[in-house]
Amino acid sequence: MTVLPAGSTIGIIGGGQLGRMLAMAAARLGYKTIVLEPQPDCPAAQAANRQIVAAYDDPAALDDLAANCQVVTYEFENVPVAAAHWLADKVRISPPPRALEISQDRLTEKSFLNEIGVETARFWPVGSESDLRAGLAEFGGEGVLKTRRFGYDGKGQQVLRKNDAASDSIVASLGAGDLILEELVPFEREISIIAARALDGSVIVYDPAENIHREGILRSSTVPAHISTACAEKAAAYAAALLVELDYVGVLGLEFFVAPGDRLLANEFAPRVHNSGHWTEAACLISQFELHIRCVAGLPLASTSRHSDCLMENLIGDDVDRLTDLAREPNVLIHLYGKSEARPGRKMGHFTRLTGHRDAARG
Ligand code: AMP
Repeated sequence: MTVLPAGSTIGIIGGGQLGRMLAMAAARLGYKTIVLEPQPDCPAAQAANRQIVAAYDDPAALDDLAANCQVVTYEFENVPVAAAHWLADKVRISPPPRALEISQDRLTEKSFLNEIGVETARFWPVGSESDLRAGLAEFGGEGVLKTRRFGYDGKGQQVLRKNDAASDSIVASLGAGDLILEELVPFEREISIIAARALDGSVIVYDPAENIHREGILRSSTVPAHISTACAEKAAAYAAALLVELDYVGVLGLEFFVAPGDRLLANEFAPRVHNSGHWTEAACLISQFELHIRCVAGLPLASTSRHSDCLMENLIGDDVDRLTDLAREPNVLIHLYGKSEARPGRKMGHFTRLTGHRDAARG
C-alpha cells in the first residue's frame, strides 16, 4: 500500500461544496489540493491551494492535473468518463472510472445492482410512448419516469399516477434521450448508508441515516434511522458488496427505500461523498470527507463510530437567513459553502444539531 506523504497534492474534479469539504479535510491531513472547475472562485477553490479554471475534459487542464497531483479524485458523478480514463493512464485515480460509468446511467446502475444481488424497484427502459404504455401496464398503471442520465435533485423526473395518460408529451417533457420507468415504491422511509473501501481492501460503514426529500431535494438526515437492526445490517452488506464488486477505493453513498415488511430497495449510488453523510463531521470523530481523503491517500480508515445522535438539515435558498438563530444554539455545527447568491433551490450550506449522546438513545 502506497501512503501519500504529507505535502503531496490531491486533485479534485468538480468545484462544489463537496469538493470544498474534501479540500478542507485534505488540508487537515497535510495535503495540498488542486480543483478543476470551469466556474471561477467556486466553493471548493476557496478552500483549495489552486484552481484550474477549465472544462472537466479540457486536455491541457487534465495534463496539468496529472502532472501536478499524486492522486486525483472527484466530487460529482457526471465527470466525463473519457476524462477519467485518460487521467487513469497517467496518475492514480480513485474511485475507479468504472464506478462513474455505471452510476451515470440509471438503467446500467439498476441492472448492475441487481446483478450483484442488491434489490431495486422494478424498472423498464423507455424510448417511446409505446414503451411507456408497456411499462405502465407492467407496474399497475403508475410509476416514476426519469431521464437515464444527468438527473439530480429531482430534476428530470415525473411521477405518473393511475389514469395519467401515457403520452408523447410526457416522454417529450423530460427531453430527448433515453428514459427509465420505475415502479412507484410505497416506501415507509428513505435511508442511505455511507461506506468506504481502503486501498488495502478493508471496508467500513457509518450508521445509516434517515432522509427526508422535498421536491426531489434532500432536506434532512436523522441518525439513528428508525429501522431494524436487520435492515441496517442489510444496507451495510449491500454497500460492502457494491464496493468490492467495483474494486472501489473511496467513500460512496447508497440510497434506499424501506418498503413495508422491512424490504430494502436500493435507489441509486453516488461514487463520492454524499449530502446525507454531512452529519458525520459533527457526530463522528472522522467525517466522510476525511475518510475519503484517507482512502485515496492510502491511509488506514480507523473508525466510523458515532458519538452522538443528530439531525442534519440543508440550508436551501433563503434558509441561509437562519444563520444567526442557528449560531445561538449550543449543539449546532454550521457549515456554509461560500456561495454569494442564495437562489431558490440552491444548497447554500447545512447544519448538524447534536440531539443526544449515542448511548443515551440506546436507553
Ligand atoms: P432520485 O432522483 O432517484 O434520487 O429521486 C429523488 C426522490 O424522488 C427520491 O428520494 C424519492 O423521494 C422519490 N422517488 C424516486 N424514485 C422513486 C420511486 N421509484 N418510487 C417512489 N419514490 C421515488
